[in-house]
Amino acid sequence: MKVLYPKMYKESIFSIDYLYLKNLGIRGIIFDIDNTLVPHNFPNPNENLIDLFNKIEGYQMKACIVSNNSKKRVEEFCKGLNVPYIFGAKKPFKKAYKRAMEIMGTDFGSTAVVGDQIFSDILGGNLLNLYTILVKPVKEGKEGLFILLKRRFEKKIITKIQNGGV
Ligand SMILES: [Mg+2]
Repeated sequence: MKVLYPKMYKESIFSIDYLYLKNLGIRGIIFDIDNTLVPHNFPNPNENLIDLFNKIEGYQMKACIVSNNSKKRVEEFCKGLNVPYIFGAKKPFKKAYKRAMEIMGTDFGSTAVVGDQIFSDILGGNLLNLYTILVKPVKEGKEGLFILLKRRFEKKIITKIQNGGV
């Protein structure tokens, strides 16, 4: 089950201490889009997001967006950001994470993964021994039954993390 636990849990991408990550040796960060950077299918990055990526760049850290969503959605979203991206990533499968590390020039020990879903973002990152960070979904909106059940399970894990039980 350890493979389902993130190394860190944060309220949002804006409450992550990126300098702390840098001090841990992290040089590149893989970001999910939907419910991580913006609500599901929200078409464009906002100002805060653009500032955040500039801040990360200012810390001499790389970023790469890795999304399971379609080419159309991901390309459109990333237009407003100066960040490389991979669409149709099929997380939790390892291939896209490896490709992202190639793009960023990082390795297993220097790469972090940030996402809202334990069963794709976190599981995939843990399978490669990356530094995994779970964030609270930006907005849950209308989600199907499967996602709701998954969220319930995720909540259990989060509660355990918060109680120091990992
Ligand atoms: Mg997501």
